[in-house]
Amino acid sequence: VQTMRVDRLLSSMGYGSRTEMARLAKAGGIVLDGAVLADVSLRIAVTPDLPQRMRVEDEALDPVAGMVILLNKPLGMTCSHKEAGPLVYDILPARWRRRDPAISTVGRLDKQTSGLLLMTDDGALLHRIISPKRHVRKVYSARLARPLTGREGEVFASGRLMLEGEEKPLAPAQLEVVSATEALLTVTEGRYHQVRRMFAAVGNHVEALHREALGGLRLPEGMAPGAWRVLSEAEIGAIF
Ligand code: URA
Repeated sequence: VQTMRVDRLLSSMGYGSRTEMARLAKAGGIVLDGAVLADVSLRIAVTPDLPQRMRVEDEALDPVAGMVILLNKPLGMTCSHKEAGPLVYDILPARWRRRDPAISTVGRLDKQTSGLLLMTDDGALLHRIISPKRHVRKVYSARLARPLTGREGEVFASGRLMLEGEEKPLAPAQLEVVSATEALLTVTEGRYHQVRRMFAAVGNHVEALHREALGGLRLPEGMAPGAWRVLSEAEIGAIF
């Protein structure tokens, strides 16, 4: 477990500069294990239970580094730190945008795709989740412009479908027909606009796209667009 000076810890979590943290502590704004912590040069162990033990300006400390956020991404928001807004990061508390390590999306959903999106500040975990070698399943629900022909499932499952401009065929994907113009598609890769391009390759067009599941995680029933929460260790374990 890492130990860190309290001023550095809080500053890395976006609460303010180290000088501001020293001032806040002097004013009694930082409480650890029920007692005011006045000296921010104190080194403490950065453990996941710290939010239960530390309060800043009378609120529980934010989750420490190593968190995973599950978000129901709304339509119209971009998964990018750089582009003009609105950005998915705008949904989180403003302070969280100043965190170091920074919080990033685990892969991306298109601006016009909704559904389950993970965000994390754990780079190693992020790479494990998006690595094609791990075959983490992503389940998308697609609404199509034209009726399915009945041949799409075989093409998608073949492992031979080549998307335009690419050199490696897609790994096999599973199609489950829901209605003439609705289907669930399970893929293990995360290529650029993958699902939209797969349906384009079979002569169709995706009109609406929503991610329902990733690994062992499902978007909780009734979670509103834009709602989010921090996952538990057990839920993080369910990804793989
Ligand atoms: N495939 C797409 O085409 N778009 C997404 O957002 C996700 C998968």
